Amino acid sequence: MAWDFATEPEFEEKLVWMRQFVREEIFPLETLGLDYDEMLRVIGPLQDQVKERGLWAAHLPPALGGMGYGQVRLGLMHEILGQTPYGPVVFGNNAPDSGNAELLAIGIEETGDEAMRERWLQPLLDGKMRSAFSMTEPDTAGSDPTLLKTRAERDGEEYVINGHKWFTSNGSVADFLIVMAVTNPDVHPYQGSSMILVPTGTPGVDIVRDVATMEDPESEFGTFGNHAEIYYRDVRVPAGNLIGREGEGFSLAQQRLGPGRIHHCMRWLGQSKRAFDMLCERAVSRTAHGSLLAEKQTIQNWVADSLAEMHAARLMTLHAAWKMDNEGAPAARMEIAMIKYYGAGVLYNVIDRAIQVHGALGFSCDLPLEHMYRAARAARIYDGPDEVHRQTVARRTLRNYAPSELPTEHIPTRREEARARFADLLEQATANQ
Ligand SMILES: Cc1cc2nc3c(=O)[nH]c(=O)nc-3n(C[C@H](O)[C@H](O)[C@H](O)COP(=O)(O)OP(=O)(O)OC[C@H]3O[C@@H](n4cnc5c(N)ncnc54)[C@H](O)[C@@H]3O)c2cc1C
Repeated sequence: MAWDFATEPEFEEKLVWMRQFVREEIFPLETLGLDYDEMLRVIGPLQDQVKERGLWAAHLPPALGGMGYGQVRLGLMHEILGQTPYGPVVFGNNAPDSGNAELLAIGIEETGDEAMRERWLQPLLDGKMRSAFSMTEPDTAGSDPTLLKTRAERDGEEYVINGHKWFTSNGSVADFLIVMAVTNPDVHPYQGSSMILVPTGTPGVDIVRDVATMEDPESEFGTFGNHAEIYYRDVRVPAGNLIGREGEGFSLAQQRLGPGRIHHCMRWLGQSKRAFDMLCERAVSRTAHGSLLAEKQTIQNWVADSLAEMHAARLMTLHAAWKMDNEGAPAARMEIAMIKYYGAGVLYNVIDRAIQVHGALGFSCDLPLEHMYRAARAARIYDGPDEVHRQTVARRTLRNYAPSELPTEHIPTRREEARARFADLLEQATANQ
């Protein structure tokens, strides 16, 4: 089957505009140390320009005011936006709001719940609300969500939620949380878990802290991009806050995570390319031991390996996106798992090499590399740790192999079989000698 990642010239023009806009208008904001409110004020006019260009919240289907671009085009956009943490916010498609909007949209499509669209989805799409996705628990392994303990019990026309979550990104600045909870403990979690929308101000929602992390050790409570620890104690919400249908939590999560991983990987490529450009610029600028760093073989290896790895990750990700566009998310499961761990590794390696080539400057806060490096480390953990995705790929691959007492390629055995098969020919050949 032919693969075709080509995009039309009109779309390429949009990408050209985005590249310049991101570099000239958004990169400089990184250096200003803005708090959340200041950031919102400063990026407002930039968001207006994005809206005028028809590029706002482009991840959504046309019915929801998006462009219906599909994953290949969206991926190419995310590659540009991912270069800077502000990029996705300016374009109205930052995580977790973009994925949460998709979740709400899928749920509304199923149930026809127009009230949910008006009350929550539309303000989220308009950038007037913030959301968070609250699934991971400190006391159970997030890599195996079948172990989730948080419970949501139906009581008349309400759900009553009890549980303890953490790493709810943006939880402390969100207007609402999408909580993954067990609604029926008597069936397999794949059928017994649900997603429920919980407004942050609901009594019983106790956001105890933003967890300080390697990315942000000085974490100040209520900062955009932080990761909240939350207790849900007898939290009552209307039954209508259920997203989709009861028991659909896992299937909704799968639908949300597929496209999200493509976007993550393309954003990582944007980051990798930025680090790579710094690596190369330094290599041709710095002299040590009688020659430019660019003339040392180790540095050349870093340049060559980084370029090859980024190219491979890019093609793998575009292929996964193409497959998703053409055959649907379930068909692309292997490809999506592969890019998740491969892309996270490439990001980490390229930034690491860029730091090394800059020496002490690379380690310092005078360059963005140290922060990029700290943020990149998380890529190997969130959205499922590398090991789980490797396991998916290995398991699915190994399904295609049958056990064999002797290796199929065992040369003595094959030789014996070949001799038997070609006995006549061999006899003739030896007789003619
Ligand atoms: C920056 C960041 C943002 C996040 N944002 C959110 C969010 O918004 N909402 C949310 O709900 N969660 C979020 N998370 C949580 C994230 O999804 C979980 O951390 C992740 O799923 C892993 O779960 P865990 O931390 O409980 O690790 P565990 O499940 O305890 O796993 C720990 C380690 O065990 C090993 N391991 C696990 N399974 C296997 C296996 N099958 N084979 C081999 N080794 C294995 C891996 O090395 C893994 O790293 C975020 C995490 C980070 C770091």
